[in-house]
Amino acid sequence: MQAPAPPRPPEDAAETGRPADGASDSRAPRVGAPKAHAAAAALPDAAPVAGASDFAAAPAAGPARSAADARVTPMMEQYLQIKTAHPDALLFYRMGDFYELFFADAEAASRTLGIVLTKRGKHLGEDIPMCGVPVERAEEYLHRLIARGHRVAVCEQTEDPAEAKKRGGKSVVQRAVVRLVTPGTLTEDTLLDARRNNFLMAVTRARPSTSESEARFGIAVLDISTGEFRVGECDRAGLGGEVARVEPGEIIIADALYGEPDLAAFWRTLPVTPLTRDVFDGATAERRLAQYFAVATTEAFGTFTRLELTAAAACITYVERTQLGQRPPLSPPAREASGAAMAIDSATRANLELTRTLAGERTGSLLAAIDRTVTAAGSRLLARRLAAPLTDPDAIHARLDAVSFFVSETMLRHEVRERLKAAPDLARALTRLVLGRGGPRDLAAIRDGLEAASALARRLGSAMPAEIAAAQTALAAPDPSLAQELAAALADDLPLSRRDGGFIRTGYDGALDEARALRDESRRVIAALQARYAEETGIRALKIRHNNVLGYFVEVSAQHGEKLMAPPLNATFIHRQTLAGQVRFSTTELSGLEAKIANAAERALGIEGATFDRLASAVTAMAGAIRAAAEALASLDVAAALAQLASEQNYVRPDVDRSLDFVVSGGRHPVVEQAIRHDGGPFVANDCDLSPPQGTDAGRIWLITGPNMAGKSTFLRQNALIAVLAQMGSFVPASAARIGVVDRLFSRVGAADDLARGRSTFMVEMVETAAILNQAGPRALVILDEIGRGTATFDGLSIAWAAIEHLHETNRCRALFATHFHELTALAAQLPRLHNATVRVKEWHGEVVFLHEVVAGAADRSYGIQVAKLAGLPAPVIERAKVVLAALEAEDRGAPGHKLIDDLPLFAAARPAAAPPPDPAAQALKEAVDALDPDALSPREALDVLYRLKVTAARKP
Ligand code: ADP
Repeated sequence: MQAPAPPRPPEDAAETGRPADGASDSRAPRVGAPKAHAAAAALPDAAPVAGASDFAAAPAAGPARSAADARVTPMMEQYLQIKTAHPDALLFYRMGDFYELFFADAEAASRTLGIVLTKRGKHLGEDIPMCGVPVERAEEYLHRLIARGHRVAVCEQTEDPAEAKKRGGKSVVQRAVVRLVTPGTLTEDTLLDARRNNFLMAVTRARPSTSESEARFGIAVLDISTGEFRVGECDRAGLGGEVARVEPGEIIIADALYGEPDLAAFWRTLPVTPLTRDVFDGATAERRLAQYFAVATTEAFGTFTRLELTAAAACITYVERTQLGQRPPLSPPAREASGAAMAIDSATRANLELTRTLAGERTGSLLAAIDRTVTAAGSRLLARRLAAPLTDPDAIHARLDAVSFFVSETMLRHEVRERLKAAPDLARALTRLVLGRGGPRDLAAIRDGLEAASALARRLGSAMPAEIAAAQTALAAPDPSLAQELAAALADDLPLSRRDGGFIRTGYDGALDEARALRDESRRVIAALQARYAEETGIRALKIRHNNVLGYFVEVSAQHGEKLMAPPLNATFIHRQTLAGQVRFSTTELSGLEAKIANAAERALGIEGATFDRLASAVTAMAGAIRAAAEALASLDVAAALAQLASEQNYVRPDVDRSLDFVVSGGRHPVVEQAIRHDGGPFVANDCDLSPPQGTDAGRIWLITGPNMAGKSTFLRQNALIAVLAQMGSFVPASAARIGVVDRLFSRVGAADDLARGRSTFMVEMVETAAILNQAGPRALVILDEIGRGTATFDGLSIAWAAIEHLHETNRCRALFATHFHELTALAAQLPRLHNATVRVKEWHGEVVFLHEVVAGAADRSYGIQVAKLAGLPAPVIERAKVVLAALEAEDRGAPGHKLIDDLPLFAAARPAAAPPPDPAAQALKEAVDALDPDALSPREALDVLYRLKVTAARKP
């Protein structure tokens, strides 16, 4: 599994028609003409392409199309052939140090990347649009293209151009696409977010059979950069939730499914790649999977449904196609039983801001608030666990045991976290090495990761909780000789690319040391030779330079050229080239040296390359154990990080069981609490009890009333988040919590706009409420915040009323319902499991003070006007609103509106009379303050002023 032979620019320059002199070897000194290239924007030294005749047909001479125009050159033929095989990808066609794009690809890429579009030769009489990106910066450009939804086929030279030359002067270097870069199949660190998984998801569907009423979907989820692979099934209703949970970078589906009218709108919002039917062929699925993992049958991995196998095989086939047959190290597909994770639909995820805020940011989300991991892999695992809280209390407690252990073992926790900090991203480095895309730094990552793993395994000791013990076993498994070998082989400072050489430690390989010494020695000899020639010729400015066409040569300015071409010096200096300002010569001595240097340098590089391959194969051979160790490191990181969070934020271990209870004492909102503490304020803890009342088998509904800004939403959400945290295996922000497993979580906020999908606010609210009332079962936890606000008062009130009744009688689930309709509190008289709660406020000197305390009972008023005043509504508006409110409250609500309007004429608000009379004391105070110039006051004067202001303020009107 070796990267294609690195192309050799010098020879290729001849092939591509680049000006020969400028072709570059990045290690050689740059001389002569600038490197010709089209990506002018990206290249400071760009210049127009000089000749293109051997890429395209002979350039058209004048306006008349010659017969030659229609001729297709061999290289064009090759290009078109490769392009035809990859019609839906931009083709990065390797030419020397660049990936070139042609025709429509060039136009698309130049638009997306903002690089200059040029022309290069002609095809069928038309100019060929072209642009390109330098190979050493290709990742950066790939990143931008992929982010904008493009796919890229990377086409490399697969033979040494020297070989092509042997077939004849004009033969074309062999090329082949070595990889298809798509959003779901990335492996490079620069293309990936270290803290997030990048999942490829395959979705396949089985039409409903006679016994089923609904279609079923098979889902496979794979991160090729880390090897995680799992499969499962769901129904149509669960599909959206699955996609929301995984947030795949790319979804592959069959053409037919893509064209399905029912699903068209759903797919449109997602990064979907439709593929031909054969990828989703159920009949060959099992065989394709077994082949990939080199097993006789997939039964070794567990039992799978046919849908699951089909989806998994689709992923595998897509990976093989995009990686052109290379096989990244994947873990065998693990089956996720449906119902193993708490079902959370996309609206609820968004609304609770689990992994990102409503604005799409990580900062401010629950994930950001609880993430104390110290490794990228740990951060990814934490995000995955948060996205899929468990429903099996035993599994949850196994995780909690590990967290508890690290909560009590403070010293060990700190030490483990310190060691983990030194562990690099093993899984991703491993994938790159196996795919032949790795560099010396990936080898170093394996070395450091394995060293950290074995050190941790030794440190952890015995009698650990099961999860930690399992991690410990995996950490101890890799044969230590690999890390030792890597440590012995790798130098301290490592280049990015293996082609740069210099990454093997001196002393590791005698033959390499010898070649290097010769190479370095020869370089010194060249420097000495230059000095000697300068001395002998008396030309002080004489230089020995190098380029890829002439090799080493002596260069002098034009004025000195004559001297070297005349006897006696012409016996030594052989004229090679005359340029505008310089003349170049070779000497026999120089040529001899050149051969020695080239040989030694090449030999050194060759030895390093072979050593790299050997080490990479050793890594590949241990891929399974390394992957397992990487996972173990991540799970230790998560357990220690959650323990760190718990002790730092004062969280407690929740009790999760199979009951329907939900008792949170002293609960806090994990995100708001941290934000408030940051600003120096206290967070008011609150209790919540949704457990079924004695003798009943259905949970309670809390109806929470209280003014805006009192803390209703915060209270609702904190309880949902506590359930999520508990079931993902984390401690929770409370003084105690007992939670009967929640199987589905729903959270809705009234009146959230979804303009992107062209639905009105109220429509969205109702669609989402409908989903809850239709789906929530007895184990669900439902959070409804201000439902019914998006329409006329009585409509809204009636809908909210009916929704509560439905939740109580039909869904029979635990629920929290916040509302500003006080009328609803009357329902408690009829619905025995409905409990009224309110968030306390105090009125003080006409102002409202929020206590954020949730108590039994109903709010007496809305305090809307007080809140509006706090928000800074103009005083006349506030005063006027009070008058209107008093009139409304005096009015019988059922009475015809026109009577009210008579009493409150519409334009009355404009009357200046509504403005409050100015307060003379305030006025005097304001004038005194305005007159102050703090910078001009001494401390003593400032104190005097304060006393005077106090007197002014105390003055009676
Ligand atoms: P409501 O939903 O009643 O309009 P919110 O839940 O949005 O109110 O809360 C308004 C603000 O009050 C929050 O942004 C937060 O800063 C503060 N707040 C809410 N609950 C608490 C609490 N328990 N302790 C301290 N501050 C709180």
